[in-house]
Amino acid sequence: MRRKIVAGNWKMNKTFQEADELINEIIDGLDEANQKNVNVVICPPFTFLEMTTDYAQESDYAVGAQNVSSFDTGAYTGEVSARILHSMGVEYCIIGHSERRSHFKETDSELTQKAELLLKNDILPIFCCGELLPDRESGKHFDIVKQQLDKALFGLDPLDFAKIIIAYEPVWAIGTGKTASPEQAQEMHAFIRSLISEKYGKEIAKNTSILYGGSCNAENAKVLFSNPDVDGGLIGGACLKAADFLKIIDSF
Ligand code: PEP
Repeated sequence: MRRKIVAGNWKMNKTFQEADELINEIIDGLDEANQKNVNVVICPPFTFLEMTTDYAQESDYAVGAQNVSSFDTGAYTGEVSARILHSMGVEYCIIGHSERRSHFKETDSELTQKAELLLKNDILPIFCCGELLPDRESGKHFDIVKQQLDKALFGLDPLDFAKIIIAYEPVWAIGTGKTASPEQAQEMHAFIRSLISEKYGKEIAKNTSILYGGSCNAENAKVLFSNPDVDGGLIGGACLKAADFLKIIDSF
């Protein structure tokens, strides 16, 4: 079912004590806020997942991971599997973030494996896609996003694909303070929905949540979320301050 979602990607920020403080500030705000049926997802570093899932039992948010291994189980030192995440109460997981594609050279086939393992373990993938600045400047942005979806996701069977959440994140907007205009976001989200419709049919396309990410903040969230094909946001920098994150949640 298509849902409004605001997910906070903490990336590699906060110490244990700072994380504890931030989660508690968010919880206090969520208790007071009218969430308007918004699904709030907090994606801290792996090491804070246990604390975040513990607190989630008393509050109204879900927990996401920022990454998962493309291997199922076994001798993969340093990796964290979908099975482990599920056993800790994790319900969502970001895959294909541009930082992982660029710094860790994640490939489309690894992303397919990650999506399949997450789905097998009842975790909803938040699949990131988006073009680099030169791609947009040369008018290739639609082709790039189409390729990313085709290669990593469009081999999934319809029942599996129906559980995927898409995050359109133009790479030139991530952490730069340059947000896509509401028109650019709507245009790409509508394009993504049309691709899903061609591949999986209207019903699945209508029900897929497509989030916007890239310098979305407390000031611009309302206008971005007011677009018909924008179902929420994947938030980086602005989720590290409770007041800003809560204001974004309240932007629908
Ligand atoms: C992100 O990294 O997913 C992101 C959207 O970052 P920021 O909001 O800081 O641009």
